[in-house]
Amino acid sequence: MSAADAIVIGGGVMGLFTALHLADQGAGRVVLLEKRYLGAGSSGKSGAILRQHYSHETTVRMSRESLLFYREFTEQYGRDIGFRQTGMLFTCHAGDRAALDGNVALQRGLGVDVDVLDHLQLTDLEPRARFEADAIGAFERESGFVDPAAAMAAVAELGRERGVDVREGAEVVDVLVDGDAGVRGVRLADGDTIASDVVVNAGGPWAGRLCRRLGIDVPLTAIRPEQAFFKPPEVQGPERIVCGDLLTGLYWKPEMAGWTRVGKMAYDGDAVVDDPDRYDEGVSDAFITECRDRIVDRLPHYADAVSWGGCAALYTVTPDAHALIGAVEGIPGLYLASGFSGHGFKMGPAVGCGLAALITGAEGGSFDPAFFAVDRFAHGRAVSTSYEYGILG
Ligand SMILES: Cc1cc2nc3c(=O)[nH]c(=O)nc-3n(C[C@H](O)[C@H](O)[C@H](O)COP(=O)(O)OP(=O)(O)OC[C@H]3O[C@@H](n4cnc5c(N)ncnc54)[C@H](O)[C@@H]3O)c2cc1C
Repeated sequence: MSAADAIVIGGGVMGLFTALHLADQGAGRVVLLEKRYLGAGSSGKSGAILRQHYSHETTVRMSRESLLFYREFTEQYGRDIGFRQTGMLFTCHAGDRAALDGNVALQRGLGVDVDVLDHLQLTDLEPRARFEADAIGAFERESGFVDPAAAMAAVAELGRERGVDVREGAEVVDVLVDGDAGVRGVRLADGDTIASDVVVNAGGPWAGRLCRRLGIDVPLTAIRPEQAFFKPPEVQGPERIVCGDLLTGLYWKPEMAGWTRVGKMAYDGDAVVDDPDRYDEGVSDAFITECRDRIVDRLPHYADAVSWGGCAALYTVTPDAHALIGAVEGIPGLYLASGFSGHGFKMGPAVGCGLAALITGAEGGSFDPAFFAVDRFAHGRAVSTSYEYGILG
């Protein structure tokens, strides 16, 4: 049996950032265990959009802290993570004006560069689009996206340089617990065990299964959203931007390969996946057709967009569309970070720093443990959001 000061389960964006910050904060020997390969879960297929439009101070602060980290990453660490500052536009109906204004005021108070636009200003920003007279929007200039695979590879490399033992092909089958004394380590699929008093479950869609094996019932559900990819027709206009459009119910973004990724804002119609190891990774014709029909209402030139298919992926959702991050009550030494409900990638740096600080006692940036408390539903402290789309946060 080997030993570690802290074990992190999961080589997605959350596990990688948590392991990196644990090492940075002097946690000692940190081992990260990934059962397949880095990014094998939700993170590898993420749109990795970095935006700051949220309904709460904590989430605006965390998305901003993380955006600035991603933006400075290449200069700071000399590795390209594909950061693109395209700007991000939110559009909604004038009926949502109070929600939009409230979020924008919150953002401005926290240093976000954002403007509210009417339908004429929206047309100036995206002349290829057709906007309803009662459409309004909020445009964040500094927002954009990263290349998720490049970002994870770079963070893993940084972690290794700081001494994190990153192991791929290492599946945890059991978290070992010794009664009230709490966590004692993990058992791997090959029969090996690693002793540790600290275990972080950052297992994404699999995190709930690991908890249930310990008799802990957490409200985590894996669902299967689909994504469509189109070749953007060549129509004169400014650089493409990232858009979240409550009027068409879609979001879209330039992909690294030059495509446009299109997905739905709402996930309540997505299928529940009981076994994240076995789900249909393909995309349906019906989804591609629906995305094309809807995006054409906003961007008419997409009527001629060539379809490049798409893919299905997994979100891990909670009842209030916000993650469960922190200590698991009743099992000292066990921590959870899952349930990012389709909008976690942008928060990775702040989550990793905050969760590691909760463990080491260091300074934890903008993360607020009470906001994300694992047991908040039992105490009537579910998070509410300004819009009906929980994924917006
Ligand atoms: C299609 C799609 C688009 C998205 N777009 C955006 C976006 O634009 N912006 C944004 O902010 N967020 C977005 N998200 C959400 C974001 O990607 C997720 O919130 C984030 O990636 C979750 O990361 P994670 O580390 O918690 O989980 P995961 O990436 O799923 O990582 C969990 C890892 O744990 C491993 N694992 C599980 N069980 C075990 C075990 N027993 N032993 C060892 N390893 C184990 C898995 O193999 C996996 O690699 C999107 C998600 C999807 C699916």
